[in-house]
Amino acid sequence: MATLNLTDVVKSYGDVNVLNDINLDIDTGELIVFVGPSGCGKSTLLRMIAGLESITDGVLKIDGQVVNDVPPSQRGIAMVFQSYALYPHMTVRENMAFALKIAKKSKEEIDAAIARAASALQLEPYLDRLPKALSGGQRQRVAIGRSIVRDPKVYLFDEPLSNLDAALRVATRIEISQLKEAMPDSTMIYVTHDQVEAMTLADRIVVLAGKGIAQVGSPLELYERPRTEFVAQFIGSPAMNLLPGTVTATGAETQVTLAAGAVVTVPIPTDDAMQGRAVNLGVRPEDFVLAGDGEAIFEGAVEIVEALGEVSLLYIPAELSVGEGADSANQTHLIAKLPGIHEELKGQTVRLRAAPTKLQLFADGLSLRT
Ligand code: ADP
Ligand code: MG
Repeated sequence: MATLNLTDVVKSYGDVNVLNDINLDIDTGELIVFVGPSGCGKSTLLRMIAGLESITDGVLKIDGQVVNDVPPSQRGIAMVFQSYALYPHMTVRENMAFALKIAKKSKEEIDAAIARAASALQLEPYLDRLPKALSGGQRQRVAIGRSIVRDPKVYLFDEPLSNLDAALRVATRIEISQLKEAMPDSTMIYVTHDQVEAMTLADRIVVLAGKGIAQVGSPLELYERPRTEFVAQFIGSPAMNLLPGTVTATGAETQVTLAAGAVVTVPIPTDDAMQGRAVNLGVRPEDFVLAGDGEAIFEGAVEIVEALGEVSLLYIPAELSVGEGADSANQTHLIAKLPGIHEELKGQTVRLRAAPTKLQLFADGLSLRT
């Protein structure tokens, strides 16, 4: 059981500033996911919470106590890394018991802690095996088990699944979610660059970018109400399309004339000052549907079709605004994701529309939704 409070936290290595203005309050029992581009400081922030990195400025509290200068071993925190180094000559049981033996716990306490962890992680059948006789996913569970036995207040996970293959990632992700349910009072922070992990595991997602926090919210808040273009494009895959245009009428609804020609009414209010301003209309690939004559917001020739089975991705050359959160494909091509197999659309000119309530509008990188 633990709350975490970060107030104006800063991290610099010498003259190089890595994180700034980190303000974040985490409740007991929350599962918080940190996402962000590579190198944005996710691991650094986690290591500062763990006490493995010093805090340059600001305050970190665990359960209301300032812990800036408290050593890692006394913070009640367990950290699980992506590379899980188990002791190869020790059984699963011995691996999990090791830290408790060092801490001079009684045999009864150790047995009870291992039984509890093995049950939460479904490791009971493997307790007497050596790591080499386990699959990658089972080993990762043992690594998690070693931290559970110590009954920490806070669990920190730094991309714990990124060494696993796709099928195991899914299985282990579901296990982590079950583990969280089995330990509802444990506070967890989980770093990942995997969209699906972030969306499925998190109570709240913290998007880190540009040395700070871009937005904090539930997965669906970030998906439906991104505050910036960066968050809009970072959450969701393929990334949101950004179509450049100009505001041609303001009021309770905003009329945007796209550079490509279509006039679109967006149910987002704007005031008169926005008249004539350059904006980007944001449309998620999955929100596009084929349109009839006169209702399209975009029209173009399909260059590539990726038929993925349950959906097809249509790539259509287009003038788009290139945001920092975009991946390379959607800088040159608008992407539409349609249900079903649509290889027949390759080379065809298609008209696309999207439900007005799904549209986003950005000026200077910021959402115009209030
Ligand atoms: P992420 O985990 O989000 O990929 P990191 O937290 O590992 O990013 O790194 C954040 C930034 O801090 C990077 O630009 C990295 O080069 C820098 N950095 C990390 N550790 C050190 C260090 N010990 N000395 C100097 N710079 C560092
Ligand atoms: Mg990292």
